[in-house]
Amino acid sequence: MANNRLIAILPGDGIGPEVTEQAVRVIECINATHDTGFEIKTEPVGGAAYDIHGTPLPDCTLDLAKSADAILLGAVGGPKWEAIQRQHRPERALLGLRSALELFSNLRPAVLFPELAAASTLKPEVVSGLDIMIVRELTGGIYFGGPRGIEGETGSRKGFNTLVYTEPEIERIAHSAFKIAMQRNKRLCSVDKANVLEVSELWREVVSAIGQSYPEVELSHMYVDNACMQLVRAPKQFDVIVTTNMFGDIVSDAASMLTGSIGMLPSASLNSQGKGMYEPVHGSAPDIAGQGIANPLATILSVAMMLRSTFEESDLAAKIESAVRSALADGLRTADIVSEGETAVSTQAMGDAVIERIG
Ligand code: NAD
Repeated sequence: MANNRLIAILPGDGIGPEVTEQAVRVIECINATHDTGFEIKTEPVGGAAYDIHGTPLPDCTLDLAKSADAILLGAVGGPKWEAIQRQHRPERALLGLRSALELFSNLRPAVLFPELAAASTLKPEVVSGLDIMIVRELTGGIYFGGPRGIEGETGSRKGFNTLVYTEPEIERIAHSAFKIAMQRNKRLCSVDKANVLEVSELWREVVSAIGQSYPEVELSHMYVDNACMQLVRAPKQFDVIVTTNMFGDIVSDAASMLTGSIGMLPSASLNSQGKGMYEPVHGSAPDIAGQGIANPLATILSVAMMLRSTFEESDLAAKIESAVRSALADGLRTADIVSEGETAVSTQAMGDAVIERIG
């Protein structure tokens, strides 16, 4: 038996528990077939935690997240908790986890499985075979900079935020992106607004300097407005994109929609030791929660990212990804990705299909 490697499972709200249940079955299957020694512990997060503990991120959950090697989170939020005070809202748990664990590097792949090319709003020839990795800085920039606020008298108030990045913050996200580019097609595009913003000028200078340590990676720079245009014009020109917190927020959502199916997209948020929180890009989908029809593939693919990035088990990660691909190739579809004339399978049946193909 390999050493225990602790995975914290935080199912959360809405469809979160339904999709994480299938992902846990996948981890258990990997454990049973490959003697990987993954240990699983579960705690509530978000609205589910608020209902029990009066806070969306109780100590038991934060302690487990800190002691685990990796975290798998379902989704948080829902109408039930919308009226409660801002500091108790389920979404606060995500910010709390990101800052407590210093998860500064957010990885959002946008991969289009050939079988789902018709699901994209773009022409199949523009998107088929799409495989982009967006690396977004997650703990700095305008979302966290100070001073910030709204002040003054009604009628002449001003609202303000501060966009700030230090050299060390840029250096660490640049290293993270170059390392990912090294494992892929060795092309990195840094997205900024250096024609207008001084902070972007510094960003560009520091990313270029870090690039000297990665001579095999072809580095390019692009203004964010052009990057958005290129993403819908010719997205396959990109391999890895690195950018700031706010630009990444916007660019990664645009890129994820190229694939047309939010139920398919995993994500990872990593710290400098490679510890990570892995979660589907989608939310808690209250409109379909409890019906057993949610697509579990984004969460299952998040497990594959976990195996690759935190546990350095690339072969096992590839095994999960190829099981997903094979299930799709064999025509299995949940309701969100089903085409006319096809029959949708349940969350559980999709989990079964992936597990069968791993085994
Ligand atoms: P959402 O992603 O939950 O849902 C958007 C649409 O996509 C819905 O129609 C939903 O049914 C569908 N969908 C999402 N995931 C799916 C899946 N796996 N399978 C099939 N269909 C799926 O976004 P929303 O409706 O804007 O937000 C709902 C709640 O989720 C809100 O409370 C929001 O704050 C929260 N949220 C949480 C996270 C997170 O936990 N990381 C992210 C986004 C939104």
